[in-house]
Amino acid sequence: MSDCLVIGGGVIGMMSARALVISGASVTLLDKSECGGESSWAGGGIISPLYPWHYDDLTNELSFASQVVYEELCDELYESSGINPQYIKSGLLMLDEYDSETAVNWMDRFNVSYKKQDNGALFTNIAQVRNPRLLQALKVDIVRKGVKVVENTQVQSISLSGDRAIGVKTNKGEFIANNTLSCSGAWSGDYLNLEDEVFPMKGQMIVLKSKAESIKNIVLDQGRYIIPRADGRVLVGSTMEDVGFDRSTDEDTKNALRRFAVDRFSILNNAKIEHHWSGFRPASRSGKVILGKHSRYENLFVNTGHFRNGLNMAPESARRIKKLINNE
Ligand SMILES: Cc1cc2nc3c(=O)[nH]c(=O)nc-3n(C[C@H](O)[C@H](O)[C@H](O)COP(=O)(O)OP(=O)(O)OC[C@H]3O[C@@H](n4cnc5c(N)ncnc54)[C@H](O)[C@@H]3O)c2cc1C
Repeated sequence: MSDCLVIGGGVIGMMSARALVISGASVTLLDKSECGGESSWAGGGIISPLYPWHYDDLTNELSFASQVVYEELCDELYESSGINPQYIKSGLLMLDEYDSETAVNWMDRFNVSYKKQDNGALFTNIAQVRNPRLLQALKVDIVRKGVKVVENTQVQSISLSGDRAIGVKTNKGEFIANNTLSCSGAWSGDYLNLEDEVFPMKGQMIVLKSKAESIKNIVLDQGRYIIPRADGRVLVGSTMEDVGFDRSTDEDTKNALRRFAVDRFSILNNAKIEHHWSGFRPASRSGKVILGKHSRYENLFVNTGHFRNGLNMAPESARRIKKLINNE
């Protein structure tokens, strides 16, 4: 029997499992398919909310606290796994909204500044990670640290004894633990009743192949963004589609994303689209992160609803849920 069962091997589940195992707990992590294959893989890896003044205080707190530790965390993961998550402080050039009253008030409150550019505002501290690599590194690292990772195992329900969660029932049998932590992203509602319902918000992205260092900063404009990777690949995203678990991608979106990038960087005119994909952000009806004890059952905890910000909020979300589970 483990001290803690973690359901879901996205960035939230793996970072939570990591925090727990480092604190001395025995941890088993279950995933319905392979770890790191869903939203956390599909995302862009920007280590900041896009227009942070649109978010609540909890989101900002989780994000700021995570930003402080991200670089060191990536160094640790690289050393432990041999896989480089490519944390780069590429800065984010915002072409709109930065001078709105709400933005200015937010910057005053959180003491955030930018460098004025001809065409916008450069937030020099904003970084990116190459999230698919971050996930690979995390998986290697948590296994090395002693987390038992059980893939292709789908949780079907929470096992209860009265009002206490004692583990989970899966398609491969029952797992028992002192504590159970749900980190199943957009699928959380499949086996868990949450007062604040979680649902999928689809996002489509493309990646173009360009020359390395042809674009320096992440660029954000009108809700869409361009993320230059170190090797010249350029990600362009994304859409917000409330269409359930429909993974399909469409030509109109692909062309619109490409046009958005080419209009801002003519160097991308002949760049090939290497890949076009979609992912399901875990959105909550309240718009808030769901991080805490389950309202009804003892020994059951939830860490989800990170919506567009799970990659940037993961380290601090993991630290907080670990503290709660360990009664620290
Ligand atoms: C297009 C796009 C761009 C994004 N860009 C960014 C960005 O730049 N920066 C940022 O911070 N965030 C970004 N995000 C959001 C971010 O990706 C998510 O908030 C984050 O990945 C959520 O992590 P998660 O671990 O909760 O979910 P997931 O990564 O979806 O992981 C959930 C895991 O749970 C497993 N699971 C589900 N149900 C069960 C079950 N019943 N039993 C066992 N396992 C189960 C799944 O297989 C999956 O592996 C983006 C998202 C998208 C789609």
